[in-house]
Amino acid sequence: MVLNSPRGTSDFYGKELEYRNFIIEKSKRLFERFSYQQIVTPAFEHTEVFSRSIGEATDIVQKEMYSFRDKKQRSLTLRPEGTAGVVRAVVENKMYADLPLKLFYEGNMFRYERPQKGRMREFFQIGAEAIGSDDPLMDTEMIWLINDLFSELGFKDLVLLINSMGCEECRKDYMEEFKAYLVQRLEKLCPECKKRYDQNPLRIFDCKNQACRVEAEASPKISEHLCKQCYQHFEKITQNLNLLAISFEVDHSLVRGFDYYTRTVFEVISRQLESAQNALGGGGRYDKLVGQFGGPDIPAIGFAIGTDRTSLLMQQLGIKPLRPKRARSVYLVSMDQKFSSFLVKLLKFFRKEFKCDTNFNKKNLSTEIKWAEKNDYDFVAIIGEEEFKNLMVTIKDIRKFKQHTFSWENEKDKILALLRGN
Ligand SMILES: [Zn+2]
Ligand SMILES: [Zn+2]
Repeated sequence: MVLNSPRGTSDFYGKELEYRNFIIEKSKRLFERFSYQQIVTPAFEHTEVFSRSIGEATDIVQKEMYSFRDKKQRSLTLRPEGTAGVVRAVVENKMYADLPLKLFYEGNMFRYERPQKGRMREFFQIGAEAIGSDDPLMDTEMIWLINDLFSELGFKDLVLLINSMGCEECRKDYMEEFKAYLVQRLEKLCPECKKRYDQNPLRIFDCKNQACRVEAEASPKISEHLCKQCYQHFEKITQNLNLLAISFEVDHSLVRGFDYYTRTVFEVISRQLESAQNALGGGGRYDKLVGQFGGPDIPAIGFAIGTDRTSLLMQQLGIKPLRPKRARSVYLVSMDQKFSSFLVKLLKFFRKEFKCDTNFNKKNLSTEIKWAEKNDYDFVAIIGEEEFKNLMVTIKDIRKFKQHTFSWENEKDKILALLRGN
């Protein structure tokens, strides 16, 4: 019987995993420099954690959640994004002793979507949340982080889009105008958007239908209706970004697919990818969410990036994950099963300091050396008949095409010196 992985999931190993791990490593180091601490939350939560925060009218909640009943008939959902769980954890554990609270997370997320390249049902995200400050400098810091993350990964031509969605105050007047605009054009909208018009008209901006996009493009924008405070808040952020020499474009149509966003929203896109799936990451301010979860009424902001699409684009653009200086490596080749007592001693010796593996399945010497070369080993250490008899080991420097035979008893220092490159 052959079993396949479920549709929309895939196995990660080899090169793919190397890219993902590189992105994780880079982001962790960056978060550390900006003083963010890691948080780990469950991969599933009570369904309400997502339905109430992301919004009942969003595509995610209506169509894309992996929800199930457990044996006690509780409704649970595999997390479709990271923010809701983090906010739930912050409120539940009353983590507001020292604000702002700066957190980052990484993990797999799940959405029931039509699988495509760069959009899987199980996908991996890295994100950051800063809870407890509405200072525009905090918005600046978030945008700064996402910008630096991509540039440190090696990207050069990504586009940073920013916008303000205003606060509840500015949204009141705007929504009336927006609905008045839409009501005359309802006939042109897709059936989905007709429903959205009643439930949450802003979601029309998420529609991928061409006719709906045209109407959304032409509609009045919330960023043109900002109250004085929201306007100044946004102004300050753009000033800060200019000071930091971070280039950006203001995109008045950018609203992002979650209901909880207020004020600043931002997205990093690649114009080299087709437009429906060109976002590599994004985020925004969610000043009401902590309060909605029963916590104090404190502002917050966050972002997340998808590692799968990021890694795909890196590969398309030929950006290599630059490995941190790795340990030197030795491939230990034993030419006969009967040398195993000596082999074990050498494995133990090498593995204390170097990456070391051995040829479990014996082949001939030249095949083993070729294999070590192909797999980027620095050295091959050989135990043959002669070496075993005299307790010697022959070490071959793969790149320098040089080899030397050492006495195991008397020349351990020389072996170490050679391997360390002293
Ligand atoms: Zn406002
Ligand atoms: Zn539509």
